[in-house]
Amino acid sequence: MITFVGAGPGAEDLITVRGQRLLQSADIVIYAGSLVNPGLLSLCRKECEIYNSAKMTLEEVMEVMERGEREKKEIVRLHTGDPCLYGAIREQMDELDRCGISYEVCPGVSSFCGAAAALEAEYTLPGISQSVVITRMAGRTPVPEKESIRSFAAHQSTMVIFLSTGMLRQLSEELIRGGYPEDTPAAIVYKATWPEEKVLRCTVADLAETAEAENVTKTALIVVGRVLDGEYERSKLYDPSFTTEFRKASADPEKRELSAHAEERKLSDRRNLQSR
Ligand code: SAH
Repeated sequence: MITFVGAGPGAEDLITVRGQRLLQSADIVIYAGSLVNPGLLSLCRKECEIYNSAKMTLEEVMEVMERGEREKKEIVRLHTGDPCLYGAIREQMDELDRCGISYEVCPGVSSFCGAAAALEAEYTLPGISQSVVITRMAGRTPVPEKESIRSFAAHQSTMVIFLSTGMLRQLSEELIRGGYPEDTPAAIVYKATWPEEKVLRCTVADLAETAEAENVTKTALIVVGRVLDGEYERSKLYDPSFTTEFRKASADPEKRELSAHAEERKLSDRRNLQSR
């Protein structure tokens, strides 16, 4: 049996409980050595065979999987973050299907969640943005023209950009040409959740300078959008005047008024913070 496991964004204790158990009982682990924290491998039994896929081709990975399956071994294919994003798992699954080998997927915490935690950000703020675009600049892997950064930028929603730290000048240009004002808040999150994590806050216009000043050239996410700063509306979910599936609206006018006051206070606190 083969299980594709999300290793989480970096910190060793950010793998899921299920992922941890799978690593503890695995006979063979093939891990994406370029980004998976090698500390996670200390969970493995000492008899476990360990392969670093950063040095392997798809064919070599398949050879290990097929041999392991013949020997009835438990195999973990360990990918960084969650395997559903830029994980190249589909091609492995297709090969396994061809060989009649069954597999499962155990999800992980993606780095875009690790970055939100580092930023203490909510990507979906009422009245600001209710959508998150996860994308990348074209590199050696092309991006379809209809998914250009410029076209997504026209929505001015929250954007999380993977695999693009080496192209920040071009990225800024595309974001601004597409529609984000130059002073739109942005952040570069380097190695989110690792001990060496760096959170660099800037604007869409000065992404490249900010990264250069801190020598960040890879393993970073770029987060863009007004959710990183500025005013927003309170959620309906926790609003006393709003009925939800689990809670009736408060009929008490005093409580409603209190909630309106709380909202005003929050907005004025934010204004004060910004003008500092
Ligand atoms: N499946 C992974 C993404 C793999 S693509 C996930 O869900 O996170 C590799 C890219 O992810 C890197 O180039 C970088 O842009 C981003 N990345 C992965 N781990 C990161 C981390 N801890 N901090 C910041 N960016 C990270």
